[in-house]
Amino acid sequence: MVDARNAVELTQALIRCASVTPEEGGALRLIETILADAGFKTHWLRFSAEGTPDVDNLYARYGTGHPYLLFAGHTDVVPVGDEAQWTVPPFSGEMRDGKIYGRGATDMKGGVAASLAAALRFIDAHPDFSGSIGFLLTGDEEGPAINGTVKVLEWMAQKGERFDHCILGEPTNPERLGDMIKIGRRGSLTGHVTVHGKQGHVAYPHLADNPIPGLMRLVQGVLVTPLDSGTSHFGASNLEFTTVDVGNRASNVIPNEARATFNIRFNDLWTPETLEAEIRKRFDEAAGNSIRYEARFDPTNAIAFMTEPGPFVAKMVAAIEEMTGSKPALSTTGGTSDARFICRYGPVIEFGLTGKTMHQIDEHAEAAELVALANIYEGVITRYFAS
Ligand SMILES: [Zn+2]
Repeated sequence: MVDARNAVELTQALIRCASVTPEEGGALRLIETILADAGFKTHWLRFSAEGTPDVDNLYARYGTGHPYLLFAGHTDVVPVGDEAQWTVPPFSGEMRDGKIYGRGATDMKGGVAASLAAALRFIDAHPDFSGSIGFLLTGDEEGPAINGTVKVLEWMAQKGERFDHCILGEPTNPERLGDMIKIGRRGSLTGHVTVHGKQGHVAYPHLADNPIPGLMRLVQGVLVTPLDSGTSHFGASNLEFTTVDVGNRASNVIPNEARATFNIRFNDLWTPETLEAEIRKRFDEAAGNSIRYEARFDPTNAIAFMTEPGPFVAKMVAAIEEMTGSKPALSTTGGTSDARFICRYGPVIEFGLTGKTMHQIDEHAEAAELVALANIYEGVITRYFAS
């Protein structure tokens, strides 16, 4: 039986559960047993939706009172890639030179194990603390993210399970444990623009209408002025064109239409709606009456959000400083995470392991970092329930 108060041992045990998304792989079952043994009330939540795989999720809570500190995370992992290239088998959880190797070691079974170990140790020492500690663990973060955290949060809201603060244990440190807390994330919006022309022979351009110069004017028109210059905790919003397509194989034909796709990573000055309106306005201005075009935007649930630095963030900073001696940066950089769903229900911050090897061949976590991360989480929990 695994010692769940030992973050290293628990990480190894979780890696040995081959939970390539959306497979549960025994990882959530192991955690459910551990939490139930420790006195948590556990809920196994299997969700399905047409066209997506069924997904298992686990929600567990110790205590009924407030404040309620929720840890969130995922136990699913990305595929291993070419298994022959791995130094150790990707689901062995083997330790070499102080490193635990395996798929999910940093993203994010290590973070899940550290938070579990910390919570159990705190409860051992303070079984009657006032408040609650919970876990929201999904098997659908690396997949479509439809039957995972989103639905667990909806289920929680229906049951009146209202948390006060949430820590998501995704890998957040670029180089060393203690580098960086993520207090928010940028939003993401993808759009497509098509300029319509008229196909014809290059030798008879007066009989055709080339859409390429028009598309170039739209591209230029949307890029010419920066969207903004950033806010107190966010950098400037950024629009990147990712492809421009005509699909024309002939050198003597003026094409019928030209298309481009772009993605915008945006800060808290924008919502997807205000941003779409701004981009359409810029296209309209660039198009004038002469360019026929249409723009469409992919639906997005990736809004920009931020948890204002305050007492909760300060407790995390203090716990990190005590353990590592370094003061973490409060950042809003990087891609999206399940925090984009959690933020709708309460304040959420992200702190976990060093992310250098996530999704790579030979993904690994330093055993010493796992021990330190569990100590940091225990430090946060202790501070959280002390006040
Ligand atoms: Zn992850």
